[in-house]
Amino acid sequence: MNTLKQALLDAQAQGLARIDAQLLLLHTLGSAPNDRAWLLAHDTDALTGAQALAFKALCQRRAAGEPVAYLTGTKAFFGLQLQVDARVLDPRPDTETLVEWALDRLQDTPRPRVLDLGTGSGAVALALQHQRPDAEVWAVDTSDSALAVAQANAQRLGLPVRFWAGSWCQPLPVEARFDVIVSNPPYVAMDDPHLSALTHEPLSALTSGPDGLDDIRTIVAQAGQHLVRGGWLLLEHGHDQAAAVRGLLEQAGFSAVSTRTDLPGLDRCSGGQWAGLG
Ligand code: GLN
Repeated sequence: MNTLKQALLDAQAQGLARIDAQLLLLHTLGSAPNDRAWLLAHDTDALTGAQALAFKALCQRRAAGEPVAYLTGTKAFFGLQLQVDARVLDPRPDTETLVEWALDRLQDTPRPRVLDLGTGSGAVALALQHQRPDAEVWAVDTSDSALAVAQANAQRLGLPVRFWAGSWCQPLPVEARFDVIVSNPPYVAMDDPHLSALTHEPLSALTSGPDGLDDIRTIVAQAGQHLVRGGWLLLEHGHDQAAAVRGLLEQAGFSAVSTRTDLPGLDRCSGGQWAGLG
């Protein structure tokens, strides 16, 4: 008999991480992704033939590199259940560092104005709006199909983020000013060998020129015009880009420039404060 337990063991023998196998099995059974405890309690239940086949097919796609989030159509991010698919980057837990930093910077600002550049699925903007219902959150993306995903998430979650289509700050009204601008832009170098493991995600959300810093340069150059005096620009970047990003921020006139690490301890975000005229 093909039990849930056996199906999970088979998937792991195929090379799947236990958590991935569990999420795919819950999806096959039509259960919620937060029902892993149920899965453990029912591990002697049998799968129907159709379920076993469907689960096997999902495991094969996962083994070939498709993100679990695309296979299940959903991803947990900062306490929200987002709907995601191949039109957007699969939101990473690393990016929760960016959200936490923004929340810290906004702690003493009532009704803050926040901008998320390159919002993708909407993950960062929606997490901030969810944590700070008093905030006015705007989000920009250059991809219409990404914006469709983000807008659908906002609507489903009942979060009133305002979306703009265009490249970085270009679609914004010239007079728009924010207390915090956040961005998880593309930052992988064009020839980074690690891209070969990311073939299922949109390349435009991942790569940014020969050193991966083209979009960060553009954002750093544009952001000051849209920050209040004392406002913050916080950027996610690659683990080996912190010094370069801090340099760009300092050159552009940001002060109090620093870097934060993610949970695994890698340099993941750098940011600074805008001292210029707001
Ligand atoms: N953190 C992702 C990765 O290296 C890249 C995300 C991005 O480019 N913003 O897998």
